[in-house]
Order: sequence, then structure tokens, then C-alpha cells
Amino acid sequence: MYRIGQEEKDAVARVIDSKKLFKVNDEAQETYHFEEELKAYFGTPHTILMTSGQGALTSALIGMGVGPGDEVIVPAYTYIATAMAVVAVGAMPVIAEIDDTLMIDPADIERKITDRTKVILPVHMQGYPCNMDAIMAIAKKHGLRVLEDACQAVGTSFGGKLVGTIGDAGAFSFNYFKIISAGEGGALLTKDRSLFERALIYHDSSAIAYFGNQLESFTTAPFCGVEYRTNEITAAILREQLKKLDGIVHDLRKNKKLLCEALGDKAKLIPSNDAAGESAMNCTLRFDSAEEADRFANTVSGATVPINTGKHIYSNWDVIMAKKGAFHPLMDPFRMAANRAPDYTPDMCQKSLDILSRCAHFGINPDWTEADIEARAKEILRGLQV
Ligand SMILES: *Cc1c(COP(=O)(O)O)cnc(C)c1O
Repeated sequence: MYRIGQEEKDAVARVIDSKKLFKVNDEAQETYHFEEELKAYFGTPHTILMTSGQGALTSALIGMGVGPGDEVIVPAYTYIATAMAVVAVGAMPVIAEIDDTLMIDPADIERKITDRTKVILPVHMQGYPCNMDAIMAIAKKHGLRVLEDACQAVGTSFGGKLVGTIGDAGAFSFNYFKIISAGEGGALLTKDRSLFERALIYHDSSAIAYFGNQLESFTTAPFCGVEYRTNEITAAILREQLKKLDGIVHDLRKNKKLLCEALGDKAKLIPSNDAAGESAMNCTLRFDSAEEADRFANTVSGATVPINTGKHIYSNWDVIMAKKGAFHPLMDPFRMAANRAPDYTPDMCQKSLDILSRCAHFGINPDWTEADIEARAKEILRGLQV
């Protein structure tokens, strides 16, 4: 979380003074306005603010009608929450390789498609966009739906379009580690009315009680859901955060450009699916060997080899790898007769493990001064010489 201060304090005070902290109050206030502002910013007809990014992913899959018997293709490099959302709806995550961009490899998506595949779930990691042209073409060819995990990429674009709005649905996270934040929070974006209706019913166990008027216009019959409903304080903070997004992305891009210019051709960046569209919160360098990447990460403060980022690597998704899909055996998708349990092995995406071992990344700060950038460039250039 980079920029938060007086505006957010005032927003929280506004909600507390109103004594209306519940999303569903008589005159819908902060949540209603935030959702309207989000729709306007992203040019999307439907959105739901909720408690988390994983909640948004799960609700989107429910919205698409995904369940037992279905397969969803996810990348080998993403936070475990992506795969957990698939299991949460009773479906099977099928894990695909990444390519040199560190995003899901479109060629491997095609290889992983079976007669059970319903959804492709590309993940825009660390503000880098996936190759959405290739992914949308594959989805069209095979009649699949696309859910974009844009939890780490609010404000990133691909081919001039904001990610999260290109597929059938997109999910954002506003937890503490993301580009804009309320500590926790998530949002679902979609142009699909029926997906929206199902996700709305699912994400709020009280939808039937509180959205009475809205539900009358629904074509979806109500069903039992869970509770991912947001609150007015989160929404009020996020209204201020959204106003800051353009400024943050602008300054991240400017600072990454200045840093890269100072590094010159000594630093080899990973290839990008759309360099201009990156939100530039991150800089990733590639190396000829894992040893070189390790040496660099050990010398440069804040630099990390992605293979060491724990639960972002499929082979460390312990509960998924162990096929422990639920709190009760009869509820466990990995044991359901409708599903074909996948054959996961730690080395099944060896290409991804190799790529993730041969690069190193570090964060960009939107508030760096020119002197900070110069000092950072010097440290990185030193790190490249060891
Ligand atoms: C953060 C994150 C999530 C989950 O977001 P929460 O708000 O913590 O539930 C999902 N996918 C990716 C890629 C993430 O980085």
C-alpha cells in the first residue's frame, strides 16, 4: 500500500459520523457510489465490491455456472488463492505453464484443454498483462469462458484495454499488498448480466432479504450463498484510493522508465506482452542461469528470485498438491465422482520452475526522487557485476 492519508481518514470519519456502516442502509451510500465510480473508470456495466479477491474469483466462477465435473485452467505462477477459488466451487484446477513473460503460456493452455474445460483463468501478476489476444482467441475457438485474475493488476492494460474488462469477468483485490488498498477488499467486474445476478446472490447470504426490489428484476432464481458482503468503511476508503490510482500508475511508469534508462543495456528485462500497459509496480530481470539470478538477489536489497516466493508457485500449493479440497470428505471436489482427480506432481511444470529460477525482481516505488532512482540504479548495476 503506497499512498494513504488524510483523504481516507476523512472518508472513514464521514461514515462513522453518519452512523451507517452497513452496506444495505436506507439511502445506499459509499458502496453504491464506489461501485458506480468503478463502473465508470473501467467502462463495465456490472460490478460488486466484496470482502476479498478470492471471494470475487469464487463468485465469478459461480456466476459462470462452474461446478463439479468442470476444469479451469490456471497458471503455475499465481497466488494459491486462484486455485483455491476453483476448488471452492467444486471444480478441478488444471495447471498450465508460464512463458518467458512469467504469465500463462497460451500454447500450453491449448495443450491442457479437455472435454471438461469450462474456463481459462489467466493471472496478471505484479502489474504485468497476460497475452489477452492469444487467450481470447483460444477461448473463442474452443467455446470457453475467460475469468481474469487482476488482483495484482488494478490499472494495468493490454492493447489499450484495462485488464479485468477483457474476458467475461475480472477479479480485483484491495488487500494490504495491492496497488490500491483498504486493508482487505475485492471486486468483481463483468459485462454479463446473468453472471452478475448469480454472483450477487452467491456473495451475500442476505441478498434474498436485502436486495428484494433488485431481485424482482432478476431472471436468476435465488439459491443459498455465502457471506462476502462489504461494508461502508471499506467502500469509503476505496473511493479515495480509486482517485489516486491514475497518479500512482503514472508515477510508477515514470520511475520504472527512469530506472531502466539508468541501467541501460546491462540489465535484461523479461519480455512483456505489452510494456506500455504494465502498471510498472515491478521490474523483473532475466539471467542466463539460476546461479546468476541468486547472486543478484543476494546482493541487491529487496530483490527476490520468483521461485522463492512461496505460495505463488504451484509446487508449494500444499493443500492443492495434496488434493485436500474441503473440510469434509463428502464435500471434497478431489473425491467427487463427477470430477476426474488430476495427477499433480511437483515437477509437472518444469519449464515454469526453470523460468522462475532464472530471473529476479524488485519493486518500483512511485514516490522515489531522482536521487533515489540514481542510488537504486547504482546498487543494481553493482549487483549485476558480482
Ligand atoms: C491477492 C491475490 C488474490 C487474493 O486476493 P485476496 O483479496 O487476498 O483474497 C488472488 N489472486 C492473486 C494473483 C493475488 O495476488
